[in-house]
Amino acid sequence: MPPEMKPGRVRLVGAGPGAADLLTLRALRAVEAAEALLYDALVPEEILALAPAACLKIQTGKRAGRTSMAQPTINRLMLRLARRGLQVIRLKGGDPSIFGRVGEEAAFLQAHGIEIEVIPGVTAACAAAAQFGFPLTHRGEARRVVFTTARLEAGTLSADWATAADPEATLCVYMGGAAAGELARRLIAAGRPAVTPAAVVESAGRPEARRLFAGSLAGLAEARLAGEGGPVLIVVGEVAGLPAVQRLSGPRAVCA
Ligand code: SAH
Repeated sequence: MPPEMKPGRVRLVGAGPGAADLLTLRALRAVEAAEALLYDALVPEEILALAPAACLKIQTGKRAGRTSMAQPTINRLMLRLARRGLQVIRLKGGDPSIFGRVGEEAAFLQAHGIEIEVIPGVTAACAAAAQFGFPLTHRGEARRVVFTTARLEAGTLSADWATAADPEATLCVYMGGAAAGELARRLIAAGRPAVTPAAVVESAGRPEARRLFAGSLAGLAEARLAGEGGPVLIVVGEVAGLPAVQRLSGPRAVCA
């Protein structure tokens, strides 16, 4: 590398749940200074528009089921752009450390001598809780929060069912929209009472957020979720049945 050229840096940035005003100030400043921006499918146009006009913008992910850029390709691309001396922003929905592959990407970049910085973001579970007026922990009822995933692979669902069945744990299930019924049945089979409250929230944190389901695990096992195609989060636990905290402000939320 010529001595006058500084090696670039990659910042792995949480974009939050999809509303620009839920970006942290640090994330906003990083996006405003970006020279190359690699972004996931969940990052909306409203946030991409905050990057400078001259910034190179590359979409790396498509929604579930459709082709995304392979992880090694993303890694190589970040490396190449950083070695050109550019300020590279890797923008991810929610928080980069929750189902965001931040560990893999950080390890790859650091192994190649690239400086990294991780900027946290509001994860979907926190956005859903705030918008629909329930806490994730609640004294005496929900002492633990489990961020987990439920993806149907070849028709089967794998998870740590013993942890999931813990009656004092709030489960926040990412990437589980298509497997919601199966998840509910498996939780009941693992010992979580069928009357345990459950809620399903689509597009949390955004103005178009909707609660697609509110009821019990038994109800979720039978439910047909009719979403609008936005990302879906499932919350299971006593907190989902608490009376909604009065919302004083914030975007309109549609409850089923
Ligand atoms: N890093 C992200 C999660 C990425 S995994 C975060 O911290 O939020 C992708 C999954 O996250 C989606 O399948 C969905 O389950 C959930 N998700 C992301 N954004 C969401 C949103 N605005 N509303 C509801 N669920 C969301």
